[in-house]
Parts: sequence; structure tokens; C-alpha cells
Amino acid sequence: MITREECAALDAADPLAAFRGEFTLPPGVVYLDGNSLGVLPARTPARVRQVVEEEWGRELIRSWNDAGWFEQPYRLGRRIAPLIGAAPEEVVVCDTTSVNLFKVLTAALRLRPGRRTVLGDGAAFPTDLYIAEGVTGLVPGTRSVLVDPAALDSHLDGDVAVVVLSHVDYRTGELLDMPGITARVQAAGALMIWDVCHSVGALPVELGASGADFAVGCTYKYLNGGPGSPAFLFVAGRHLAAGPEQPLSGWFGHARPFAFEPGYDPKEGIGRFLTSSPSLLGQAALEASLDVWEQADPAAVRTKSLALTDLFVSLVEGLDGIEVATPREHARRGSQVALRHADGYPVVQALIARGVIGDFRAPDLMRFGFTPLYLSHTDVWDAAQQLAEVLESGEWKDERFARRGEVT
Ligand SMILES: *Cc1c(COP(=O)(O)O)cnc(C)c1O
Repeated sequence: MITREECAALDAADPLAAFRGEFTLPPGVVYLDGNSLGVLPARTPARVRQVVEEEWGRELIRSWNDAGWFEQPYRLGRRIAPLIGAAPEEVVVCDTTSVNLFKVLTAALRLRPGRRTVLGDGAAFPTDLYIAEGVTGLVPGTRSVLVDPAALDSHLDGDVAVVVLSHVDYRTGELLDMPGITARVQAAGALMIWDVCHSVGALPVELGASGADFAVGCTYKYLNGGPGSPAFLFVAGRHLAAGPEQPLSGWFGHARPFAFEPGYDPKEGIGRFLTSSPSLLGQAALEASLDVWEQADPAAVRTKSLALTDLFVSLVEGLDGIEVATPREHARRGSQVALRHADGYPVVQALIARGVIGDFRAPDLMRFGFTPLYLSHTDVWDAAQQLAEVLESGEWKDERFARRGEVT
């Protein structure tokens, strides 16, 4: 078994080690929940303060032009594009993942008239399924069907209009084959929408090279944009050229919003997927976090992510009552490790009381996210040690760890 000293030696040779200084980590905490809410980048408070006090407080409405507020959704989209393998004009930052999925899924359905089925993963993050239900409820004749992605091919008949899948499963951390699945979906005449919430910032995402049609993703997980920070959406250039129609036709998607015309005339390009005024404070926090991402080499992030998840798995497998639910093969693993335990909820609470923060997803999964920019190998060793102690001592059986909060 690897020792803590050996982990410290790995940290000393870690090319990403200096990034830890870019983040504000509370003392005494090993944070393994950056896959749910990323940590605060050190430069974010100053950037948000500047927007509040100077751009808003002093310059007031002039900032829409002078501080580039109007352009901000596009500017941030251009900066997210390299993280998801997209062209700069294919991405825009706006709204939330759920709202953006509503827009791109409806747009995709309209590109496949005559086909009636939307396929989704029955085990997907439920908001994606709820949105698919909402969209198919509005478009007459269409229906949402839930399948197991492993059996997707047997469902790809001539009635399938769109397939929506998560690149990385939010529970198990399983990574799907984006280019392979996209090709098979398109060969069946359907369109492919990827949800990259759990892969953007965790591993290199290649939407363009995979031929993806549409994608959505959030920025408060691995990208560290802050709680409720704005999401993004991707539309392949070939679809943008054809002028896809999205249903939330608000004034920010209009070709001339400040002409205040009564009829809707969508913008050319990705701008037609905008709906409303951007949430500038949230966008400012995201902007600061993207400054950090621009300095990080995605290949180095992936290499370290796999090293950290490998390390954690090697240290915890064999612990009493633990079963590793995350795939062992690198090609099938995102940047988190999920452990099954019959009493996962109180075990995670006991671990949090010791300063190791993970989370729990029903019915029995303890989730641990590994964020290479601010986690070290010794952090991982310490977390595994704490988990072993929690299980051995049985301290998780204390009744205070059984109480459930609104958010698990
Ligand atoms: C986090 C997450 C979301 C979040 O949706 P919001 O609308 O931003 O709250 C959606 N889909 C997946 C797969 C997620 O992991």
C-alpha cells in the first residue's frame, strides 16, 4: 500500500501543484465535492467587487456599452469553447443547464419533423429527463423514452429524432464514448445532444471532433463559476448556418433588440439562442474562474485526474462494506469515484464532520469528486485514511449523522 510520504513525493513532482494557490480552500478541509460545487477562485471576489462597485455602482447603465456587458455572453462562450472542443462562435453563456436543454432539445426536434421519439438515459440526472418530458408534452405527437445507454443501439429506429445523454454519469462517474455514440445516433438519422456538466473542466471534451449536434453544460461544478453560475450551450456550426429555431424567443435573441419591434426576428448565429438580459454578477464570477482555466493544460489535468482517482480506488477498495461503483478502465471513467455502502448517507456525514467533504446520492452511493487544480495526492491519502477510520470506529452510527438536510 502506498504511504503518505510517497504521496508527498508525487505532490512535489506535480506540474499542476502551483494552481492550488489560485483557490481559497478553508483550512482543515479536504474538498472532494468540486464535482457538485467548485471552490472559490482567489481572484473571484475582486472581480465581482469591481463589477458591483465600479461597473454598476459608478458607471451605471453606461456599462452595457462601456464595460462590454452586452457582449459578455459571447465573450464567455468564446472562452469556454476550447474547453469543450468547439469553435468560438458555437458557444454562448446564458441561463441554466435545464433552460438551455429546453431550448436546444426543442430546436433539435424541429430539425427532425416526422420523427417522434426523444431517447434519454433512465439513470440520467433527472432534470434532463424532466425537461425532455416538458418538451415532448408541448410538441404534439412526440414522446420521451428512457433507455439504458448500453442498449442504445437497439432503440435507434427510424422514429428517433433526438438522443440526450450525459457524457459522464453524475452518480457512477462512468464516461461514455462520445465520438462512437454520436456517429451511431447520426447514422440512424437522429441528432445527438450531449450534457457535459460532469465532464467540462474534468477532462478534455471534443464536441467538434465527435460531430456532436448540440450540447449543454454548467459552470459551477469543475469550472468553479460559483453557486448558480450561468450555464452554456453549444450548437454545431452546420446547424447554426441553417437557422435553427428555439422556443424561448426573448429580446436578447432578436436581431435588433433595441429597435423594439413587435415581431420576432432572430439573430444570425449562436445569439439566437439567447433569451434575456445576462446575469452579470454571476457572469463576472465565471469570468474570473476562466482566467485560471486558461493557464491549465487540459492533458495534464486529465493525467492527474486519473492518477488521483486510481489512488483513491486503490486505497479504499477492500474497506468493510465498500463496493467501487466507478469503472476501472480509464477510457470509461470521469473525474469522480462513487462508492456503494448500505449506510452511505451517515458514513458521508461522519466523514464531513472530520473535514472530508463528499456527498451522497440515493439510494446508496457516496460520491467523491477529484479536481486536479486544487487537490493533492496527500489530500487523497488523508481522505482515504479518514474513511477507513470512520468505518472501523463505527462512529457513523451516531444518530446525528442520520438526519437529512434538504440538499444531500
Ligand atoms: C448539475 C447538472 C445539471 C444542473 O442543471 P441546472 O439547471 O443548472 O440546475 C443538469 N444536468 C446535469 C447532468 C448535471 O450534472
